[in-house]
Amino acid sequence: DPVLSIRGLSKRYDSGTEALKTVDLDIERGEIFALLGPNGAGKTTLISIVCGLVNASTGTVLVDGADWRSDYRRARSRIGLVPQELTTDAFEPVWSTVSFSRELFGKPRNPAKIEEVLRALSLWDKRKTIMKELSGGMKRRVMIAKALAHEPEILFLDEPTAGVDVELRRDMWAMVRRLRDQGTTIILTTHYIEEAEEMADRVGVINKGELILVEEKRELMKKL
Ligand code: ADP
Ligand code: ADP
Repeated sequence: DPVLSIRGLSKRYDSGTEALKTVDLDIERGEIFALLGPNGAGKTTLISIVCGLVNASTGTVLVDGADWRSDYRRARSRIGLVPQELTTDAFEPVWSTVSFSRELFGKPRNPAKIEEVLRALSLWDKRKTIMKELSGGMKRRVMIAKALAHEPEILFLDEPTAGVDVELRRDMWAMVRRLRDQGTTIILTTHYIEEAEEMADRVGVINKGELILVEEKRELMKKL
């Protein structure tokens, strides 16, 4: 069964904007799924609802079988979110930034796990460095490490390479693929066709709140 199941999801903000219109989507375990669409299409709204940060107007989201409304603890623990903005303390070292993130989920301390996550992201040598001393690319890696510290099933990346140079973008892509190969399901949003093409197994195209196309990448590239 799918690791994420979305049915009849819609969102109307108080302003009246219909940001999502009856979205249905299943995400399979172990895939990289790219949600592709222009600015304002509804990508962040969709991710925010699926991650439990925003309430839907209608519809159901099951995260690894857990419904946000009745079983939010389980749903939350299955999800790791890498938001667009940096949400770290400038003076906190990498190690405690990442291990504190695990504790927020009520997971028992597990230094071996934190080490594994830091090594997977090539951050081990930086573990004692405070955040403000890191390069932009390293800061982004810490954001990913934070999201992985509690061992989620699904990793969400909101516009992971927006405003990032070509070299760092390729670096991010390689890292995301490695994480998938280690068993994490990945969902990312992007407005770069190139990024969807390069990274994803499947692509969903969203426009004006509607999921207008969901295709295996190979099929999609024939249509665009
Ligand atoms: P994307 O991430 O694809 O750029 P968003 O989900 O951010 O799209 O936005 C979808 C639509 O919803 C846009 O028209 C945007 O202006 C609107 N919107 C987003 N957040 C809010 C909010 N908090 N209140 C009102 N409207 C919003
Ligand atoms: P609070 O302490 O206010 O209850 P939370 O512990 O729920 O806040 O969340 C702390 C931060 O982590 C928030 O900025 C929120 O956006 C983010 N967050 C909440 N749930 C998740 C999640 N499942 N994965 C990643 N980040 C999350």
